[in-house]
Amino acid sequence: MRNNKQENGQGLKPLSTSKEWKLLYYQHGRPGLEEGRKFKGLCNQCDLKSLCGLPKPEIGVWRCEHFRAKIWEKSSLYENVLKLLEKAQSVNNFDRDICKIMAKTMNELVVHFPVKMDDDHVKMLTGFRVQHNNVLGPFKGGLRFHPMVDIDEIRALATMMTWKTAIVNIPFGGAKGGIHIDPADFSPKELERITRRFTFALGNNIGPDYDIPAPDVNTNPQIMAWIQDTYMSTISPNERNRSMHVVTGKPIESGGSVGREKATGQGVVFCIEKWAQDHGFNLKGATYIVQGYGNVGSWAARLMKMNGSKLIAVEDVTGAIRNKEGIDPDDLALYDGGVVDYPKAQSIDHEVFFNTKADIFIPAALENAITGDTAELLNVKLVAEGANGPTDEEGNEVLQRKKINVIPDILCNSGGVIVSYFEWLQNKRSEFWELDEVDTKLKKIIISAYERVRDAAKKYKVDWRTAAQIVALYRLEMVYKERGIFP
Ligand code: NAD
Repeated sequence: MRNNKQENGQGLKPLSTSKEWKLLYYQHGRPGLEEGRKFKGLCNQCDLKSLCGLPKPEIGVWRCEHFRAKIWEKSSLYENVLKLLEKAQSVNNFDRDICKIMAKTMNELVVHFPVKMDDDHVKMLTGFRVQHNNVLGPFKGGLRFHPMVDIDEIRALATMMTWKTAIVNIPFGGAKGGIHIDPADFSPKELERITRRFTFALGNNIGPDYDIPAPDVNTNPQIMAWIQDTYMSTISPNERNRSMHVVTGKPIESGGSVGREKATGQGVVFCIEKWAQDHGFNLKGATYIVQGYGNVGSWAARLMKMNGSKLIAVEDVTGAIRNKEGIDPDDLALYDGGVVDYPKAQSIDHEVFFNTKADIFIPAALENAITGDTAELLNVKLVAEGANGPTDEEGNEVLQRKKINVIPDILCNSGGVIVSYFEWLQNKRSEFWELDEVDTKLKKIIISAYERVRDAAKKYKVDWRTAAQIVALYRLEMVYKERGIFP
């Protein structure tokens, strides 16, 4: 059981002494908890029972921070990751000793660092970098800025990065990192100082041939540029220009690759196209729904439009919308604000979103969105997992029972790390590739990984999630067997 006091580093604040606090938006059936807008007033769900004239939420109920611990107890992503490892081990009888190595992260770094706020006061923040494995190459994985970031989540995501790079056969290991903050609480200047100070705290635990961060939830090319600049400014001058590949997902002008921004969404769509081809399914006129309209979700949605498919419902942290006539993904991507306020669709609740009949569902938000309950609601043929860990164990069982096809996360969203690899190569070789070259190479790599997973599912008569895990473990086991264990 997780302890709120340890996890949020602040403990629970007694409501009676707190005049203003964040109210958390909890949607039914969802184990995750999202910070919503800030309100003044007392929570109508807590012990005090004081009503405060809060507007009734359109979906779910408002709950105060008291409920954070309760909800966080639900599902541990890391437990799910380890269970899947165990399952794959038993299906293919992988070497137990190698699975023991895989079940542990190699290095875990927790840094507490001070940052000066705009009003001159100092805030202590906590950041993480977990390096799971580097037997295939340097550690590689994103950085996430989110109030739910904790060591358990980062461990799980780091481990999944090792599987991902192994499946797609690129020479990287797995890592992940993050800072436990809500970026919406900080000004751009504060975010820059937070990013730079975190990078400084990581020191030489990251590096262009050792551990290479990239964007993830709430981080973007600008944040990568600050990391790059901070890292390069703190090493000796004659090393600086050989170190620009300390991060990927940079702005193009600072050494980023064309095609990186859309790469994860592009990879998702390449996988969907391959699935459609294999199943004789026509994507023209097919309907799809998307959860999460950030980098991955909005790019996947826009690229699906190019196949003539129709986006009919979207959910992000602000709520869900639907328009059965279709929502223009490009127009929605340009819309400045949460999807719930988008004027060309109707607002719907979380359950209605999940219950919307469509051909394809692309979860592209956070982990554990597809639970037993929400999977029961789903009315789709395919789930193409853009997010990491969007389906919990129970949700997975329901999807299997309902015979909904799943392209699992570690395959489906690998486009980002594949193009990060291209960016890293271009920096190392002082080259610049054209978009065509990037896309062609990405497609080749992700489709051959898709075929390996599909073939493993047939061979071992298992679901695709287990098959993907088997493909990854197979490659890692081979390398460990060839090299042996030092000394
Ligand atoms: P992002 O910050 O750009 O977007 C996240 C989106 O999720 C936002 O639209 C946000 O409103 C929405 N969201 C957050 N909480 C939600 C909730 N409770 N309900 C509904 N929507 C919610 O992040 P991103 O980079 O697009 O990453 C999304 C997912 O894809 C994450 O799981 C991430 O790990 C994974 N991923 C990202 C990349 C990448 O290259 N960025 C690569 C591989 C995997």
